[in-house]
Amino acid sequence: MTDDPNIASKIITNDPWFGSYAQRAETMRASEIRALFAVANRPEVVSLAGGMPYLGRMPFDQLSEEIGRMLRDQGEKAWQYGSAQGDPHLREDVLPIMAMEGITNAQPDDVVIVNGSQSGLDLITRIMCNPGDVVLAEAPNYVGALGVFQSFQVDVVNVPMDADGLVPELLEETIKAQLAEGKHIKMLYTVPNFHNPAGVTMSRERRPKVLEIAKKYHILILEDNPYGLLGFDGQTYPALRSMDSENVVYLSSFSKIIAPGMRVAWMVAPPGIRQKLVLANESSILCPSNMSQMTITCYLDNFDWKAQISDYRNMYRERRDAMDGALREYLPSCSWNKPEGGFYIWLRIPDGLDAKAMLPRAITAKVAYVSGTAFYNDGNGKDHMRLSFCYPTPERIVEGVRRLAGVIDRELET
Ligand code: PMP
Repeated sequence: MTDDPNIASKIITNDPWFGSYAQRAETMRASEIRALFAVANRPEVVSLAGGMPYLGRMPFDQLSEEIGRMLRDQGEKAWQYGSAQGDPHLREDVLPIMAMEGITNAQPDDVVIVNGSQSGLDLITRIMCNPGDVVLAEAPNYVGALGVFQSFQVDVVNVPMDADGLVPELLEETIKAQLAEGKHIKMLYTVPNFHNPAGVTMSRERRPKVLEIAKKYHILILEDNPYGLLGFDGQTYPALRSMDSENVVYLSSFSKIIAPGMRVAWMVAPPGIRQKLVLANESSILCPSNMSQMTITCYLDNFDWKAQISDYRNMYRERRDAMDGALREYLPSCSWNKPEGGFYIWLRIPDGLDAKAMLPRAITAKVAYVSGTAFYNDGNGKDHMRLSFCYPTPERIVEGVRRLAGVIDRELET
């Protein structure tokens, strides 16, 4: 990200390169979330907008000692180029993490380390999709994935979700309709656990059904799972990849279970796709940073990461409860799901209100959220907003919801 997070949304006049850009650059848009960052991060504003994990409980003192030792002992490796597939040590270290969600048959060689899941989304789209190809995705949809699909001029076709996640019958209907139009469906993109932004989880019963339908039509499933270990009661769901190793590309990240600053995530893919992913990684960045990967390894090898994840779960549960309680108290005119894990509440606002139009007034009232419109590619979503409970303290969350209620009440009066 640039120093000024708003830079991507500023209009540049008299650009001498206007007219020279590739078509894919023309389709790139600043995300509504990025554009919000600058205002939302002012200290007087309670930001319920961003999805930043809270890092105040990381053991930074001990960590810096361990990292110092690692740099002294293995400096030559840390400062050097590495493998395009990722450091073998880290590729081994992710196996027990995935085993917690039932993936027990992956080998280090099946794993590709990427520069954050965001880069993984870019690489898989790069190798699978031509302009005009279709990617099926849940609606609402993760805004970062929408941006990637847009930049590759992919047609994102929405598949409806309900409280149990993607609806298998509607998935099949959508596939049939797209095929009847002669479209090439390349992937089904899904965030099965504690969805961003919808907060819902695909039920256990639906998982094999979704896999079966995708297999029947030879559609690759892209399973994006950054939140799966953040179930508030310690519950986990079987990863789609744990039930099917041929038709699923699995993507997970250290961003939410440790910290996002290292930009380390990983993918597990069937052999042919994995090979292409390594080539794409190489052509894009040569290799993931050894320094970042070794820092993550250093953490995993020297700290009780399971205890840290469990601490995160407790902390986020408390924040979810604070938000849910405040919504009940101050915004009974709205409806929402109570997520079992993750970072987000997807709030339906009263009929007739427009979350996007209301945002400047909310900022004036010193509270920020993301309008539901950011999560659709077709203009839908103004009747919803995404509220994040991950970063602010419970007290700030309550204050933020109280301010939001003031804004909504005033809108209803006018
Ligand atoms: N996928 C989803 C569903 C996410 O919510 C996020 C982060 N907000 C990402 C991918 C990107 O994660 P990373 O930091 O690993 O790039």
